[in-house]
Amino acid sequence: MSLKFMFVDMNAFFASVEQQFNPRLRGRPVGVVPVRADTTCCIAASYEARKFGVKTGTIVAEARRMCPGMVFVEARHEMYVRVHQAMVAAVETCLPVHHVHSIDELSCKLSYAHMPFDAAVQKAREVKEAIRRRVGEYTTCSVGLGPNIFLAKVAADMKKPDGLTTILREELPHKLFDLKLTDFPGIGPRMHRRLESRGLTSVRQLCAMSADELESQWGGILGGRFWMALHGHDMPDLPTHRRTVGHSHVYRPNCETRRACRACSCDCCARRLRECGGLDIARGDWMCMLRFVRVRRGRRGRT
Ligand SMILES: [Mg+2]
Repeated sequence: MSLKFMFVDMNAFFASVEQQFNPRLRGRPVGVVPVRADTTCCIAASYEARKFGVKTGTIVAEARRMCPGMVFVEARHEMYVRVHQAMVAAVETCLPVHHVHSIDELSCKLSYAHMPFDAAVQKAREVKEAIRRRVGEYTTCSVGLGPNIFLAKVAADMKKPDGLTTILREELPHKLFDLKLTDFPGIGPRMHRRLESRGLTSVRQLCAMSADELESQWGGILGGRFWMALHGHDMPDLPTHRRTVGHSHVYRPNCETRRACRACSCDCCARRLRECGGLDIARGDWMCMLRFVRVRRGRRGRT
């Protein structure tokens, strides 16, 4: 019985950070918002708010109705980046970080081969304790241990908040049978509809399929890779090549005109492009690529 990867996922990250640094928010339903407007949505909700059904993406006016005592705080992204860096540093005191997946998720390789079960669980406890000590006791995390990053992430999602869950190869596939298809990375709403339309509705059915069958469901080699991941095989990541630069931005309520939105979007996208460095796109070209999906007060626009 051995494990190879650890996945660390901070719980309700932005909301927990706010509760960590503002004691008055602790124990209360908190929604983090990009701007102060009823038309915008929560970009994070504390677990106290989630009990009322509020989640990431809930419109503020709706959240107020669902949870009358809810407190809304404006996002402080610089602070979240600092906490993210502290989280990475905390994990590094226990294990080298293998990959940072997002501001609140990272993975570690437990050893070059496999780590015995007890040692891996002990390492996970050390990581949780290091984060608690160095970041704060309100910024808890869920840790998953598995034979590959995919299953370690699935394990981390199985118990929230503050979980520690393991998936051993020996426990496959039955340990996954209680999950929903959408609990797996790579099965979003669109893929879910597609699978359902072909009669594939349960994880039990998914696990019983062969690699070839999954390839035909996915329409390519991704199905085969999904099969390998689902059955506990560890595969190297496919090389990726960045071809586009995207940026989501919530306009301030006073950013009313299309021209003002465009100026704001150009600014955000230009910064991203500069950060990428490698993209050789003339200014005139990228100006043409800007696309507004939704331009409304306090609503998200994609540029
Ligand atoms: Mg998270």
